[in-house]
Amino acid sequence: MRSVASIMHLDLDAFFASVEQRDKPSLRGKPVIVGGVGGRGVVATASYEARKFGVRSAMSTREARARCPHAAFLTGRFHAYRATSEAVMELLRSVSPLVEPLSLDEAFVDLEASSLTSFDVPTLRGWAETLRSRVCEVTGGITASVGVGSSKFIAKVASELDKPDGLTVVAPGSERDLLRPMHVTTIPGVGPATAERLRRAGISTIADLEAISLPEIVRLLGKAHGHGLFRLARAEDSRTIEPERETKSISVEGTYDSDLTDRSLMAGLLTRQAYSVAERLRRSGLSGRTVTIKVRLHDFTTNSRSTTLAAPTDHAQTIAGVARGLLDDLDTSDGVRLLGVGVSGLADWIQEDLFGDIDPESDPEPTPLAEPPAGLVVRYPPGADVVHREWGPGWVWGSGRGVVTVRFETAETGSGPVRSFAIDDPDLRAQQFGTSS
Ligand SMILES: [Mg+2]
Repeated sequence: MRSVASIMHLDLDAFFASVEQRDKPSLRGKPVIVGGVGGRGVVATASYEARKFGVRSAMSTREARARCPHAAFLTGRFHAYRATSEAVMELLRSVSPLVEPLSLDEAFVDLEASSLTSFDVPTLRGWAETLRSRVCEVTGGITASVGVGSSKFIAKVASELDKPDGLTVVAPGSERDLLRPMHVTTIPGVGPATAERLRRAGISTIADLEAISLPEIVRLLGKAHGHGLFRLARAEDSRTIEPERETKSISVEGTYDSDLTDRSLMAGLLTRQAYSVAERLRRSGLSGRTVTIKVRLHDFTTNSRSTTLAAPTDHAQTIAGVARGLLDDLDTSDGVRLLGVGVSGLADWIQEDLFGDIDPESDPEPTPLAEPPAGLVVRYPPGADVVHREWGPGWVWGSGRGVVTVRFETAETGSGPVRSFAIDDPDLRAQQFGTSS
């Protein structure tokens, strides 16, 4: 814990849903639920309008549909979330070099490394309000809730207090009074199991926890956990801001003594590499959107080709299919010395979990091998960006029975018209994002 409130926690409000409402004017002010739309899908983010009906993150989509049947249910558009997140993180890094992103929509910032010279509460409030309005500007209208305090724990607690679109600065010295009435689950690391064990011992608030001795907490929860909780109950937290330690990509490559010329052998090697990349992704709890192959030719020139998928994957067959498709783009007739496969644009496992569950019957997997990489996005999931030759850009309102219904509007247009097309209408196509070569 510091003697001044110099740690900030910023959390974008209902982030995925807010981005959807920004880009889909007809959904502004309406319940929007982003997540897995399949039979076992889970809600990733619900807009505040949907939360009024009791819809929450991590709830099954089935339950969300029962509670709020009139909501728009959308699958994620990671290109839009990522671009918006990057704009915010870039803004944060312009105010302090010490930024620790926790996810796409959350970060800690160390204000001691900023240009601030005074950390009294009114100065911090004015400064943070300016920052919040700049977040709104750089994101095209997404709001952020901000907490400022003397530690990571207090800053994070503070950002929750006035959500959405709020600001709380916790004055140094007032931390313990703030925490006392709060439930023990406010403390990071206190999940349902720990909370239940504490409840059975008669402990529900942080004040209750503060009142019991260290040996008693240790007896209840074990040494490591007990010591940690004893300190956090007293607002003692000396964790520092860890600027991004990025695992940017996971890749596997092989070099060969003699030039490879057999295409089916190369495809086989790429497939094997894709499987080991997928295994390493899963072991690290990561998934990625961009699949890259690296090919060194007989003359030692090195080429790479990549494709960005609509959603992150750690699926071996998908990675292998894309990698083989990318190889088809390259002239390897004179022989190859090195082959490699990598996945980048990594996201936390949880996102794959939330979005990966697409009902296989209503929404079949794309078949990477049958299509060139640019044709990978062959389906029309609800909410996805599309473009029509005549009508221009829009988004998938719904699809089924060979028909796709599109609403033609963008962040700039205001609410737009709805039209239906045959699913194989050559004038309609899925928008491609981030594909490079
Ligand atoms: Mg958030």
